[in-house]
Amino acid sequence: MINKILVANRGEIALRVMRSAREMGIPTVAVYSETDNTAPHVLYADEAVCIGPPPSAQSYLLIDKIIDACKQTGADAVHPGYGFLSENAHFAEACEKADITFIGPSSPAIKVMGDKLASKQAVKDFGVPLVPGMDEPISDVAAAKKIAEEIGYPVMIKASAGGGGKGMRIVHDPKDFEEQMTRAVSEARSSFGDDSVFIEKFITSPKHIEVQILGDQHGNIVYLFERECSIQRRNQKVIEEAPSAVVTPEVRKKFGEAAVNVARSCNYYGAGTVEFIADSNLDFYFLEMNTRLQVEHPVTEQITGLDLVKEQIKIARGEKLSFAQDDLQINGHSLEVRVYAEDPENNFLPDTGTLKTYRRPQGPGIRVDDGYEPGMEIPIYYDPMIAKLITHGKDRQEAIERMRRAIREYQIEGIKTTLTFCDFVLGHEEFVSGKFTTKFVEEHFTPEVLQKDVDADTALVAALLGAELRQKQQSTLHPAQNTDSAKNSGWKKRMNKR
Ligand code: ADP
Ligand code: ADP
Ligand code: MG
Repeated sequence: MINKILVANRGEIALRVMRSAREMGIPTVAVYSETDNTAPHVLYADEAVCIGPPPSAQSYLLIDKIIDACKQTGADAVHPGYGFLSENAHFAEACEKADITFIGPSSPAIKVMGDKLASKQAVKDFGVPLVPGMDEPISDVAAAKKIAEEIGYPVMIKASAGGGGKGMRIVHDPKDFEEQMTRAVSEARSSFGDDSVFIEKFITSPKHIEVQILGDQHGNIVYLFERECSIQRRNQKVIEEAPSAVVTPEVRKKFGEAAVNVARSCNYYGAGTVEFIADSNLDFYFLEMNTRLQVEHPVTEQITGLDLVKEQIKIARGEKLSFAQDDLQINGHSLEVRVYAEDPENNFLPDTGTLKTYRRPQGPGIRVDDGYEPGMEIPIYYDPMIAKLITHGKDRQEAIERMRRAIREYQIEGIKTTLTFCDFVLGHEEFVSGKFTTKFVEEHFTPEVLQKDVDADTALVAALLGAELRQKQQSTLHPAQNTDSAKNSGWKKRMNKR
């Protein structure tokens, strides 16, 4: 039984989890740092406990504080969200010890899959294809260089404990190897407290394709199809979709079965994601498994009709999955764009400030998962993601059209965001063709491509919201001129360009 869930997270994902709990009639507890005292997740929860000062190392990452908050409020289960403690095996263990249900996989599964090398070793015997390279850590630079030569350049030096796009270095030229390796090791030590690194082949122009799985505590595992997440900056996703535009039913089955095998290799239960990179023939290799709910899980929810958080809770309660693989079907197409407080014109540098204007898009096929309200500040202490904008359509084209409409309706002022960048991507022929790779941003994006469209966007938003602009025009222009202002025709041109 689960009687009360403490959500050990903040922002959109904390709200996301609480909403499902509420639908299931389960009360929730929020934890918060001093800077989040009036945050939406705190107001939404039935109870809330302050766990410390703003820096996450003094609040959201403190296992003891969170266990104390459970005891104080009588919460008998914890949902960790993503990031923070979600992939921390010690945290899952601490919950077990305190008789609190951890809504996630077992701590041994987290431990194995949380380490990129340990996971490679675990899946090797299950027939899962691996990225060519090492499955053991290496610290000797000369020996490592030799291995890099055997694998063949370019290679990637990776921190075994890495995550969130951090702790990876590409080496194209042997003469740079020593320096990059030294940096990789020290970065791994300082960022992850573990300096193990390994080397794998750097796959030039791959696709990132991942598979959502669900497993119960009775050995049943199913796959919920793939997500394509190749649009990345800094090895981190910005646009995701399900299904992939290029995966055929036969290839889909191969991906799905490989993912289920990865899950079997660690007796996995709960929701999890198996990440692969695929070459242009869609031959694919295992990258890592994320033992948690992912940022981009909504696109899978849209196409399967499942609520993944409810499934996680039911699995944690020991229930059997209520469906088998053959019961699952793909319905339409879904896209997600991540709205980050970042400046795409300035190397995606995080931006901070106040959301002076904040107005969400609405209408058919639109879902916004966010953790902010107008007037709120984006704190500097945490991830700069403001929101996730998700669309669902009968097919990919409709999902894209909806997304482009929604981006134009989204009104954010006071802070730079990735919205204009995302719109550029969605309008690009390579994205539309489905044949894009993780190199998309590097190959096609420069800040200049954003400039020319900004005016048209402002005009559309103003028109849609019946704002000031229209009033002003009506007082100065003849109505006939007014309906086709220069800015409006700019907008139409853009829509037709696709
Ligand atoms: P997803 O695979 O769900 O898209 P991301 O890679 O974008 O996840 O990471 C989700 C969140 O978790 C981000 O806030 C990221 O910074 C954080 N994160 C993921 N892995 C780690 C890690 N090992 N250490 C620190 N933060 C991490
Ligand atoms: P993280 O734990 O930070 O998510 P991953 O191993 O999942 O790390 O890699 C993140 C991204 O880095 C991938 O989606 C891909 O774009 C790129 N990447 C990782 N390994 C390779 C590789 N061997 N070759 C090419 N790209 C890679
Ligand atoms: Mg990853």
